[in-house]
Amino acid sequence: MARTFWVGGNWKMNGTVAAVKELAATFNAGTSPSDVEVVIGAPYVYIPLLADSLRKDWAVAGENCYIKASGAYTGEISPEMLKDVGAKWVILGHSERRNVLGESDQFTAEKTVKALQAGLKVVLCVGELLEEREAGTTQTVVNRQLDAVIKAVSEADWANIVIAYEPVWAIGTGKVATPDQAQEVHAAIREYLKNAVSPKVAEETRITYGGSVNAKNCKETAQKPDVDGFLVGGASLKPEFLEIVNATN
Ligand code: PEP
Repeated sequence: MARTFWVGGNWKMNGTVAAVKELAATFNAGTSPSDVEVVIGAPYVYIPLLADSLRKDWAVAGENCYIKASGAYTGEISPEMLKDVGAKWVILGHSERRNVLGESDQFTAEKTVKALQAGLKVVLCVGELLEEREAGTTQTVVNRQLDAVIKAVSEADWANIVIAYEPVWAIGTGKVATPDQAQEVHAAIREYLKNAVSPKVAEETRITYGGSVNAKNCKETAQKPDVDGFLVGGASLKPEFLEIVNATN
């Protein structure tokens, strides 16, 4: 089964009303191949505006969510609320959530379950720190992060999960993983899914790469057999994102 190429933007904590309108207009005017799925992750407060103004062949994602539908959880946002204001996806386990906000594998897995139950699709981010890569533990770390989710979800749930392999040392640093480095980890993730979940899930799950992806470096990495797309931070705030959407063309 051919996996549909998937390109996501992650705006992180960036934007203004004016900037959201301007970027949406730029993206709406660009070419987006019909065989590429595109999703933009935006700060909570801009999701309704983005969902209203963005082209309808692209979808909107939240960048995080909580594990309850509603209640006394001051400052939190539920998956149900994200859905209510027009998000179809949520990014979970981003390295900034894990390493800056201290969110655990377990908490990320719990969020994944709740988001899926609410009817959102999940971009599940995994990836190692520089010291973990240098210690040769990349796959141990990534497998541990995956394991928490593997234990928490059903086999059928994987149809609604896209994995983003994002080496932390490559995020926002300008140090992109080489196409071979990305391919090596993606292939290992697929092998892990094959054994830990099923050959079907391994074959069908999209595994995307994130970490300093830009218009220049995306084309070569996009050719790798186990790279099924990209999660893009900085470059998703620029017109250049359209070139990444067209990386396979
Ligand atoms: C990200 O935020 O997920 C990311 C990969 O950022 P950047 O592309 O800026 O490295």
